[in-house]
Amino acid sequence: MSELEIHRRGLMLVLSSPSGAGKTTLSRLLLESDSQITMSISATTRRPRPGEVDGKDYRFLSTEDFGLLRNQDAFLEHAKVFDNYYGTPRAPVDEALAAGRDVLFDIDWQGTQQLEEGASADLVKVFILPPSGRELERRLNTRAQDPPDVVASRMAKASDEISHYAEYDYIIVNVDVEQALSELKAILIAERLRRERRLGLRTFVQQLQQAL
Ligand code: 5GP
Repeated sequence: MSELEIHRRGLMLVLSSPSGAGKTTLSRLLLESDSQITMSISATTRRPRPGEVDGKDYRFLSTEDFGLLRNQDAFLEHAKVFDNYYGTPRAPVDEALAAGRDVLFDIDWQGTQQLEEGASADLVKVFILPPSGRELERRLNTRAQDPPDVVASRMAKASDEISHYAEYDYIIVNVDVEQALSELKAILIAERLRRERRLGLRTFVQQLQQAL
């Protein structure tokens, strides 16, 4: 067995931040640059924004359908964020982890707490902070997809979301997206190397010792 064949347990990489801190861009860039990680596609009752694709950005559901799935225990976690419901479908995550793949979650602090209750050993929690309040407001405005009242409500909620930063393992201040991306990649590399996630390590070391 070569070093590269040491089997590893998949991990659950959670990214949380206030809206507008750059989490969606960072997730996209990470997924493009790393073939071992897949995105967990959430279900939501909110309406699609221009350009958002059903099944790619979210599964857009009616409140009724969301409720049916929730009653069937089809969500790993779910929460009400702003005025809409969001949830992580359970089956795709189970499949990815069983296949030794990592899963990326873009979920809020409520969902993170629920994942923690169920699977804390597999969880790596990263919180993204904006460099300043002014910059957060600028990013929310230039995103130009939400009406002004929605932007104002998201600014008001940002402080709430940020108050949970201490529940996370790592904090990235997103001043520059390339820098933030390399910090995120560094976290992922280190977490993949954790001894307890490397299931094939014992056999590998035994073989190594036999050869000495
Ligand atoms: P947006 O509507 O801007 O796409 O997302 C609003 C917030 O909901 C973000 O903080 C995002 O991380 C969170 N969110 C998205 N999907 C989920 C989910 O499946 N579960 C939870 N708990 N939060 C989610």
